[in-house]
Amino acid sequence: MENIERSPNSFAISNKDLQQAFKSITLQKEAFTGIYHSHPTAAPFPSKEDITHHIYPEVVYFIVSLRRRTPLVRCFQIKEYKVYPLKIITV
Ligand SMILES: [Zn+2]
Repeated sequence: MENIERSPNSFAISNKDLQQAFKSITLQKEAFTGIYHSHPTAAPFPSKEDITHHIYPEVVYFIVSLRRRTPLVRCFQIKEYKVYPLKIITV
């Protein structure tokens, strides 16, 4: 989805894009299980804004850091303003 703030330091998604994504999930009988976004210049940990604005505690939260040549992905669960790191297991 497009960052409507057009900033490398913050992001926001339009209500239209969000509604379209949820509609698509429903129509394709998929499940909303996670969210991801990138940090172009920061480490892959939730920022204060990420924590404050996170409103889906039931889904996992991926952050991709692009600050090094090799992207680094971390995963978290954020509930009631607390951050719980999760392990990413690949099979
Ligand atoms: Zn972030």
